[in-house]
Amino acid sequence: MSAASPGTEPATSVSVEGGQPSPSTGGKRVLLAKPRGYCAGVDRAVITVEKALERYGPPIYVRKEIVHNRHVVDTLRERGVIFVDETSEVPEGELVVFSAHGVSPAVHAEAEQRNLRTIDATCPLVTKVHKEVTRFAREDYDIMLIGHAGHEEVEGTSGEAPDRVQLVDTPEDVDKVAVRDPSKVVWLSQTTLSVDETMERVEQLKQRFPEIADPPSDDICYATSNRQVAVKAMAAECDLVLVVGSGNSSNSRRLVEVALQAGASDARLVDFAHEVDEAWLDGVQTVGVTSGASVPEVLVMELLEWLAERGWADVQEVTTANEKISFALPRELRGDSARSSVR
Ligand code: SF4
Repeated sequence: MSAASPGTEPATSVSVEGGQPSPSTGGKRVLLAKPRGYCAGVDRAVITVEKALERYGPPIYVRKEIVHNRHVVDTLRERGVIFVDETSEVPEGELVVFSAHGVSPAVHAEAEQRNLRTIDATCPLVTKVHKEVTRFAREDYDIMLIGHAGHEEVEGTSGEAPDRVQLVDTPEDVDKVAVRDPSKVVWLSQTTLSVDETMERVEQLKQRFPEIADPPSDDICYATSNRQVAVKAMAAECDLVLVVGSGNSSNSRRLVEVALQAGASDARLVDFAHEVDEAWLDGVQTVGVTSGASVPEVLVMELLEWLAERGWADVQEVTTANEKISFALPRELRGDSARSSVR
């Protein structure tokens, strides 16, 4: 994986803002990871739905959760969005938005057949992996897709070439895959995996297929890897790391795992501040806080307030990179001003 992600300015060193814990806090402090929260793909997807609501009025249908975050989904539902699992649930002729995780060509075809109007909010970095699959399938490669079984992104990506893609999730999967020609194999990956675990899986694949080709560029996206680097930088100093994120958010769950692997004594995933069990704070001095790429900042601020009320008012931000990246809206909505209000 590359050291610096596109659209990211690496901090020259890990910078900590906020100074030393004051004696009045009894040594209790919060380390707040930066980068955290919304990535460019999530921001674009949420704005897409908001603009579609403004322009076309409710109801707007969205296939699957637009992004994997309960607060975002509930807020949009209140504004008139109807979330469906399958395109077949959308009435003929209506408008459907495809989520940031991407869909397979079969889903596009079904929407067309049912005469649906569509806006595709697939993150451009997911689309990039789709294009890699199409290209390697066209060149007759067997494609080892490292990812989590059942995740929507993996379903969409595999759907580009179902006969050529084999999913590699667990170490056991590496033993199970079968290829036609060991000199024509490539590995690609889901965008939101643990960087370290993915490289373990790649090493295992290389043991079996020494000639396996690497992706043309990193598939794990800048936002996923930046958030992991930031949580790693502070984890060893934390008695507890609280990751704000939803249980179905792959990149949020990876942050919990990465925090534990990097030395945090404990790490927990919460959607909202009120889900924190006060017993987790017993004997804790330093609390690390971060959030997944689909999490609005308001939820982190609520957690910081909740912690401050309980004595963790001293907040030091640990910065490992500054992200500058943003994506243009889908072409159907270009020209609209672009800043999401669910933040
Ligand atoms: S986590 Fe990465 S791939 Fe997923 S929406 Fe955000 S930028 Fe795109």
